[in-house]
Amino acid sequence: MEKRKISKYVVIFTITILAFALASCSKNAGSSTVGKGTSSDTVKIAYLPITHSLAVLEEAEELKNSTGLKIELVKYGSWPELLDALNTGQVDGAEVLIELAMKSKQEGIGIKVVALGHKDGNVIVTNKNIKSVADLKGKKFAIPHRQSSHNILLHDALATAGLTTDDLEVVELAPTEMPSALVAGQIDGYCVAEPFGAKAVSLDVGQVLLKSEEIWKDSLCCGLVLTDTFLNNRPDDAKSFVENYKTAGKNLTTQKAKEIAKKYLSADDTVLDLSLQWISYNDLEITEETYNTLLEKVKKYGLSDNPPAFDDFVKNDF
Ligand code: ZN
Repeated sequence: MEKRKISKYVVIFTITILAFALASCSKNAGSSTVGKGTSSDTVKIAYLPITHSLAVLEEAEELKNSTGLKIELVKYGSWPELLDALNTGQVDGAEVLIELAMKSKQEGIGIKVVALGHKDGNVIVTNKNIKSVADLKGKKFAIPHRQSSHNILLHDALATAGLTTDDLEVVELAPTEMPSALVAGQIDGYCVAEPFGAKAVSLDVGQVLLKSEEIWKDSLCCGLVLTDTFLNNRPDDAKSFVENYKTAGKNLTTQKAKEIAKKYLSADDTVLDLSLQWISYNDLEITEETYNTLLEKVKKYGLSDNPPAFDDFVKNDF
């Protein structure tokens, strides 16, 4: 009896191990087919469903009906997941927070930023009790990641009132959780990619304390990044991809941006109508001057001591 019981467990155990082995085999097989090296007529781009990614989403739509290069979009739910895909070469490029890409570059990942994701398009949102930047003293404020322009915008805004981040509690929170955290009173304000700022405003629980252009003129936020492997192996495709990208940005009128956003993002009309007033995509060239301003801020606010120089990281010559 005892022996039969034991052998039954041995069988169950063996089946479980086999099931795990099969599952991991198929997983590995799957990732190796989608990973490393895309086919010759597609470029694989990682993105997050935010308005800051609309230029590449528009480009993907425009190229669908072309005879040449196509974009294979890969959606991620968070910056760490997207970054992992970029850093391990599972994609050819990404629309990503430029500070995160700078950090990867600094750590030896072969990538270059080839254009901006957007211009402006960030706001500092607070509850309605906050009347000025000075009122943020002692309060709790959320940013998506330490390596972000949202962190820099907070630092810059606080400086206008003689404050630093030591004067309040700064927490990192997933963008999707920020509007509800503000509603619940868990935080007093936040700065994050859109449309999450507009969401709190449209719910009438938040207000725009400051827009990015009021804090930092020509601020950089997201960048379009390509891997060195893609740039070196497929220079003609890279050139055509970046040229089409800039054209797609110019084509993004507010109406067009809204159409694309409704297709790829889960946001309603009211939120998008507000959010899209704050952002533009018509000039996505990244200049040495604006990049160097970013470098200064990254060092000044302690995001990085040794960020990549313009010539090492920015590729403009297509
Ligand atoms: Zn952005």
